[in-house]
Amino acid sequence: MDYVLTANSLYKSYGSFKALCGLNMRVPKGAIYGLIGKNGAGKTTLIRLICGLQNPSLGCYTLYGIGSNSSKIVKARRRMGAVVETPSIYLDMSAEENLKEQYRVLGLPSFEGISELLELVGLENTGKKKAKNFSLGMRQRLGIAIALCGNPDFLVLDEPVNGLDPQGIVEIRELILRLNREKNITVLISSHILSELSKLATHYGFIDGGRMIKELSAEELDAACRKCMRIEVTKAPALARVLDGMGVEYKILSETEADVFAKLNVTALANALAAEGCELVSVTERDESLESYYINLVGGN
Ligand code: ATP
Repeated sequence: MDYVLTANSLYKSYGSFKALCGLNMRVPKGAIYGLIGKNGAGKTTLIRLICGLQNPSLGCYTLYGIGSNSSKIVKARRRMGAVVETPSIYLDMSAEENLKEQYRVLGLPSFEGISELLELVGLENTGKKKAKNFSLGMRQRLGIAIALCGNPDFLVLDEPVNGLDPQGIVEIRELILRLNREKNITVLISSHILSELSKLATHYGFIDGGRMIKELSAEELDAACRKCMRIEVTKAPALARVLDGMGVEYKILSETEADVFAKLNVTALANALAAEGCELVSVTERDESLESYYINLVGGN
């Protein structure tokens, strides 16, 4: 498999404090890689290192196969765009002026592509409006557009939906999906909200205490935390008989409850239970298993 980014036993110390402790990581080409960890886990530190804003204390990383100790890393980093912490935008400039400024910084020969970029992030109709009058979501999208100047094929976003309202969150999510699917951009997103990342990530890295605790694909995560239906009845033994008859996998939780790992026709279930002299009280789909998986991995809190 081709990896856009790998981290090999990466350490970063601040005095005697180790923010990264031998971290390993592999971001496959074409992935939307969700980097998950609670506050202080080391996500931003890792992102600052790969963006070249700080140097590792020990260990190394590769970008497109180029090692961080190589002189070619600067060139490899040009294929990457990033929004780290808050987007770096000029508040007294319009969206278009901000992009022109970034083109100048990158030394691009013309302003070609700016209107397409504005359209891509949904800011094509903002005209002369200054960024200081933008909503937080618009600023975040402008930050992403700035990161996309220079046509990178790897985009790194540090907590991109932090502080956004539900509409802003959906807009950023759709933008990331579009960039990945239509422009083939590999994306690394950090977040402490697993449920948000689970709507778009194809791969996950769980980080805690500066270490990578687990890396897995979305399919592997789905298999590890299967969705289930929690069924409440008046008599669990009757429910067990009915479920056995249906040939589905289940787990009895109490005298009145069971989790079923299959999709059931609720009417058929209620009828079968009635024939056993048992009432169906409630059926709830449970999907907090993602969060439980995460909490089990990082050990609570
Ligand atoms: P958050 O979700 O809160 O942003 P994070 O996972 O991004 O958390 P980091 O910002 O990488 O975490 O911080 C990891 C640890 O390193 C924290 O304990 C933090 O206090 C510490 N740290 C980060 N930068 C510095 C610094 N410049 N000097 C000292 N300690 C630092």
